[in-house]
Amino acid sequence: MHIKPTPLQHINEPLFREKGVEVWLKRDDLTHPDISGNKWRKLKYNLVEAKEEGLSTLLTFGGPYSNHIHALAAAGKLFGFKTIGIIRGEPSEEPTDTLQNAAKNGMRILFMDRAQYRLKNEPESIESLHVQLGEFYMVPEGGTNIYALQGCIEMVNEIKTDYDYICLGCGTGGTLAGVVAGLYGKKKALGFSSLKGKDTLTSSITELVQDFTDKTFDNWQITFDYHFGGYAKVNDELIDFIKAFKQNHLTQLEPVYTGKMIYGLYDMIKNDQFPRGTKIVAIHTGGLQGLCGYKKEFENEIQN
Ligand SMILES: *Cc1c(COP(=O)(O)O)cnc(C)c1O
Repeated sequence: MHIKPTPLQHINEPLFREKGVEVWLKRDDLTHPDISGNKWRKLKYNLVEAKEEGLSTLLTFGGPYSNHIHALAAAGKLFGFKTIGIIRGEPSEEPTDTLQNAAKNGMRILFMDRAQYRLKNEPESIESLHVQLGEFYMVPEGGTNIYALQGCIEMVNEIKTDYDYICLGCGTGGTLAGVVAGLYGKKKALGFSSLKGKDTLTSSITELVQDFTDKTFDNWQITFDYHFGGYAKVNDELIDFIKAFKQNHLTQLEPVYTGKMIYGLYDMIKNDQFPRGTKIVAIHTGGLQGLCGYKKEFENEIQN
């Protein structure tokens, strides 16, 4: 289960020169065409754990455009697991590209209505899935659990350049928790939340880090200034930014996480939030399959 270290891309930008900061993009979107970025990092040691527990079926949860569903289906196929995806909501007439792809990779797709889905982590809910579906290894929504951290630590350890900050987009915060554990009190980590909700994110990251390392660290922070109205919400400014970034740097971002994070990073640099001389590694956490949810906005960017 080895995927080779992903490269660092130095981002040449007049703004960065003017402000005296340096930015590299860690191209974790290049881990694997279908098992991309942080979703691979978070899955890796869950797959190891499933093998150790002798379980050959992986079950997980997600929305109809989920990068995690996409990655888990592909990883299951590649590493010889059966996979089941419990999808939030009702089936639509035309399944999303994400779900079609997952089905092609052998994933059994089951839908769960929203009310039930909210209770999916309750013991009774899991028990009834076992009654219905037999034995399985359960990977939580987004792949975030204690096993997710180890893979993210490996990502941090791959960075061989000198730097002051790691920046990345946050959903559940599992990846940021892994980065914080990997830094182990050195340097700084800055998360850009793609969701509005402030209340639980910080505490769940603190808890994950503590469960994993037995320590708490204060060299990390989350900004909630760049969620653009909430999860999966976009506006023209964000879409135009992503298109311009691709033109200038030949690198595709997506609007749910990486686009918002890089937009936010540019904005913070513009507003002198980093002292001159700061070196920043921003993580391209992948997820480009999710562009299929933005066909209208990105008709020229989507291949196939
Ligand atoms: C899922 C995802 C994230 C968020 O990861 P968390 O560990 O849930 O915070 C960030 N970027 C991309 C591209 C993702 O698919």
